[in-house]
Amino acid sequence: MSAASLSLVFLKPIHSQKHQSWFQARPRTKNTPIFIKAQSGVKNEDVVIVGAGIAGLATAVSLHRLGIPSLVLEQAESLRTGGTSLTLFKNGWRVLDAIGVGNDLRTQFTEIQGMAIKSEEGRELRSFKFKDEDESQEVRAVERRILLETLANQLPPDAVRFSSKLKKIGKNESGETILELVDGSQLFGKIVIGCDGIRSLIAKWMGFTDSRYVGHCAFRGLGFYPEGQPFEPKVNYIYGRGVRAGYVPVSSTKVYWFICFNSPSPGPKVTDPTVLKKQAKDLVRNWPSDLLNIIDLTPDDTIIRTPLVDRWLWPAASPPASAGRVVLVGDAWHPMTPNLGQGACCALEDAVVLSRKLANAIKSEPGTVETALNSYGNERWPRIFPLTIRANLVGSMLQWENPALCSVRNNIVIPKLVRLGPLLEHTNFDCEPL
Ligand SMILES: Cc1cc2nc3c(=O)[nH]c(=O)nc-3n(C[C@H](O)[C@H](O)[C@H](O)COP(=O)(O)OP(=O)(O)OC[C@H]3O[C@@H](n4cnc5c(N)ncnc54)[C@H](O)[C@@H]3O)c2cc1C
Repeated sequence: MSAASLSLVFLKPIHSQKHQSWFQARPRTKNTPIFIKAQSGVKNEDVVIVGAGIAGLATAVSLHRLGIPSLVLEQAESLRTGGTSLTLFKNGWRVLDAIGVGNDLRTQFTEIQGMAIKSEEGRELRSFKFKDEDESQEVRAVERRILLETLANQLPPDAVRFSSKLKKIGKNESGETILELVDGSQLFGKIVIGCDGIRSLIAKWMGFTDSRYVGHCAFRGLGFYPEGQPFEPKVNYIYGRGVRAGYVPVSSTKVYWFICFNSPSPGPKVTDPTVLKKQAKDLVRNWPSDLLNIIDLTPDDTIIRTPLVDRWLWPAASPPASAGRVVLVGDAWHPMTPNLGQGACCALEDAVVLSRKLANAIKSEPGTVETALNSYGNERWPRIFPLTIRANLVGSMLQWENPALCSVRNNIVIPKLVRLGPLLEHTNFDCEPL
């Protein structure tokens, strides 16, 4: 989903420093005091990253480029090989350039020039060209699998340890952080970076609440055209009542699509691709036929259904991003709905900001590591919190069911009021090479 869904710019991202003291003033929520008895001979790792998703791998690569080795623990047996794609905006590309993989990825994915928005009957409501508003904008839908592989290839062999699911995090009697894996093994982490996604065990231990279901789910898939896909390089959105869909070319042979639909509950987990395809097509049966054709051309291992969740990091109510020498990055800290296409982009931003601060502290004055982690949280929170809320509000508007509201949206708001500049202002993020 992603690419610049319609934002009414309800909340602007905060870039200034003035909110930092507000943030710093928040009381620290105590992390659950789980005591773990250390086995004898437990290995001591300097930096342990839990989770080899985009956040974990980008953090490991950033640290590696700054001369700091880390160990990444991943619960799965290998990198996620299935999955679909993510739209990355210029803020994501600035980070990928900073960590040296931007150009490699650029050669594999089509640059998207603009977006077109249609009603479910196929009437064009509005179209934009990204560069008309911002010459420096860069939008590409990137296959998640290739992004993960490209990041992992930057790391030394054995930097990622697969089949290593974290079961428990706690402290031993001396106050050191111990990680216990499901296979019963333990390790000490002098610095632990939680990149374990929306159901983060580490976030839970730090006192964060569970992420919250927002009332709609998404089908996603990657259509495959072995003879070449026929679409222009633009994001195509179709807005209906309580249902919206979109598709965007990824490369010369692949097209990413999504359908978002209202559902009072996340519903049972469905993995059978035939059932998923049928359910997805039933939602858009009478919509423009391009979408139905792309769904038909979607290989089984690239179709998924996901309930959408987020967590609002309210000041005073939500714990900070770090507790001692344990810190969160990406969805583990700030799950957000995909309506602005910013979850992965922000995880990438987190990775470079954290790595720079951490590497400086480790190299210059190891006693300042906790301060560096705190400073990361303070710098990132004013960016993350408004974006999370904004993504949620945009999603709510796009999921309206009421016919009168949908008519106002499709006939007034989208054609006359929406401006692309403010819509994509949040993609401004400067990032020097590491
Ligand atoms: C429908 C949808 C569309 C999206 N579209 C976009 C988009 O277009 N653009 C964009 O920027 N973002 C998008 N996002 C958001 C993006 O997918 C996430 O923000 C991003 O994947 C977060 O990366 P992460 O590494 O923090 O978490 P994840 O990708 O969830 O990675 C977490 C990793 O931790 C591992 N793990 C979890 N628990 C443990 C454990 N106990 N022990 C060891 N390992 C563990 C997992 O196996 C996984 O590898 C979308 C999200 C959704 C749901």
